Amino acid sequence: MSAPLVPARLAFAADGTPFSQAFGDVYHSAEGGPGQARHVFLAGNGLPGRWRGRRRFTLLETGFGLGLNFLVTWDAWRGDAGRCERLHFVSLEKHPFSRHDLEQLHARHPEFAPLAAQLHAAWPLLVPGVHRLEFEGGRVVLTLAFADATHALRELRLAADAVFLDGFDPRRNPELWSPELMRVVARACAPGATAATWSAAASVREALRSAGFEVQKRPGFAQKRDMLQARVVRSGREAAAPGERRALVVGAGIAGAAVSERLCARGWEVTLIERQPRRPAGEPGRHAGVFHPVVTPDDSLFARLTRAGFLAALARWRALQAAGQALVWDECGVLQLARDEREAVAQHNAIATLGLPPGYAQQASRDAASAYAGVPLAAGGLWFPSSGWIRPLSLIDAQLAAAGARLEARFGCEAARITRGPDGWTATDRDGRTIARAPVVVLANAADALKLAPQRAIRIRRVRGQISFLPGERFAAPHVVVLRGGFVLPAMRGESIAGASYDFDDDDPSPRASSHAGNLERLARILPGAAADLDPAALQGVVGFRAVAPDRLPLIGALCNEDAAAPRNPRLATLPRCEGLFGSFAFGSRGLLWAGLGAELLASHLEGEPLPLEARLAEALDPGRFLLRTLRRTTSAQA
Ligand SMILES: Cc1cc2nc3c(=O)[nH]c(=O)nc-3n(C[C@H](O)[C@H](O)[C@H](O)COP(=O)(O)OP(=O)(O)OC[C@H]3O[C@@H](n4cnc5c(N)ncnc54)[C@H](O)[C@@H]3O)c2cc1C
Repeated sequence: MSAPLVPARLAFAADGTPFSQAFGDVYHSAEGGPGQARHVFLAGNGLPGRWRGRRRFTLLETGFGLGLNFLVTWDAWRGDAGRCERLHFVSLEKHPFSRHDLEQLHARHPEFAPLAAQLHAAWPLLVPGVHRLEFEGGRVVLTLAFADATHALRELRLAADAVFLDGFDPRRNPELWSPELMRVVARACAPGATAATWSAAASVREALRSAGFEVQKRPGFAQKRDMLQARVVRSGREAAAPGERRALVVGAGIAGAAVSERLCARGWEVTLIERQPRRPAGEPGRHAGVFHPVVTPDDSLFARLTRAGFLAALARWRALQAAGQALVWDECGVLQLARDEREAVAQHNAIATLGLPPGYAQQASRDAASAYAGVPLAAGGLWFPSSGWIRPLSLIDAQLAAAGARLEARFGCEAARITRGPDGWTATDRDGRTIARAPVVVLANAADALKLAPQRAIRIRRVRGQISFLPGERFAAPHVVVLRGGFVLPAMRGESIAGASYDFDDDDPSPRASSHAGNLERLARILPGAAADLDPAALQGVVGFRAVAPDRLPLIGALCNEDAAAPRNPRLATLPRCEGLFGSFAFGSRGLLWAGLGAELLASHLEGEPLPLEARLAEALDPGRFLLRTLRRTTSAQA
């Protein structure tokens, strides 16, 4: 379980310097944070010179604090004609400031006002986990881990080129300078990485040396006589780099559109293959889906993954909208009503123990929930004020448009086979004609992915789902999304949507009255009596199919080569993979929540960039997890 997040509390020392009561120390020297950042962290790491001409440069910072080091670095990057193409700034922070506090703090540094305003606008909800914020059209990427530094760094996957070791005085905040933290810092470094810090304490020097850094004293900033400069000798990771940036993506649903957009944003050429004909542009359809995180008292892996997906979706959709794309969505809020007393207690415990901010999730009594909904509800439950609904077709269109000219979309074209030859992967149609070739192929075609790349260890089920359209004149819709076993959405264009059936082993693509009747039963558990005037036989609806893995988590990453010899001590990292073959499918009932995160994860992996979420969460999505379980079962049966 993630520890509850405790935000920083804003206070000032007598001379006006921001001060932490928790650590009894100032956030930066009284002479000013920006000067210290330039002298100690930029110059101390040979910047900006070292990032010049690089495709990517990755910085790691051990304490985000006020974010001044980030603003100074971003400002220096902007002002440098030879800057790297993509700057990754990964920063750890156990006690982040609220947006409001940051606004106050940054007002003291008007030279950064335009950049600070963008940071404030993108500042995430203060919930534990990894948050990715993009600026400069994705060329400056801030990855924030709101967690204890040592714990967070063990869970992050990156290859840092330079490290800003910044924390409170080692005597007051020893965890941020411990030999253990320095060891994990060294493991997160690329070969030749440097580090710098304002502290020249003997304990810090010793911790750095024992972790495999060469350390030198240099003149410090302002009143400080010395600072430390270090270079990693024994280094951890080499960042992978793709050869040719060209990919085939199969399937233009929300997963394939997201992967295409994320790859094109990184300069890849993508051919997207979709068997359905192209739809008329700008028609977002009647269907809408719900997005909201799941909250459990133990902050389970599933809950953490939904949180990561939710935050990533919000950030990406806002970025798409800011870039002028026409998304049809509403953060109107989502109520998840407790199904029974047991669930009500679990919801109460979750809110009480996790310390989640009210902007993310809060408990609502039946009266409060009914007030949010504007109609009388059957129960109280959890209230997610920043969640809501989105039209998936508008999301697909927005992502395809954002992908721009690097994307070639081939609609009405079915990939019947994919084969690997010396030139990479070739997709062919039913008549054996080549559709396209590329070194990388991403299967984003839901349950059909395994038809193109059979994997014996993986079983994906197709689950039919039908939604019902409820005419506005016969049904008083809630003002917010309400869930309880099923869902009901607010009215849009004169109708509301209720759903959804969950039918195993049912390939019927046509809407039917029995499924509408089931949806009305679900609706009655949410809004008692509201469905009384609705006749299931007279309703309209649509049917779709979910692709569901046994653990209800998607498959995102490299697919395994099941025919190669299995490693003796199998782990995800040692499983044999099919070169250039990746998947992003089986999103179950949460494609809207996870497709964007999955695409960012895949693109980051292909580019050798810092991953946008914790290793444990990324591993939970790894398609190799099923082969690993099979191999481990076989090994233990043989033992
Ligand atoms: C009734 C219902 C309600 C739902 N409600 C929600 C909700 O509220 N919130 C939520 O997050 N999720 C919801 N979902 C789940 C969500 O719709 C899915 O998770 C999501 O659509 C999966 O997207 P995808 O891109 O992976 O797959 P799909 O949308 O299935 O896209 C796959 C695409 O691949 C194409 N394709 C397949 N094979 C080939 C091939 N060989 N060659 C070329 N093209 C191919 C298909 O034509 C298709 O367009 C719901 C699902 C259903 C059925």
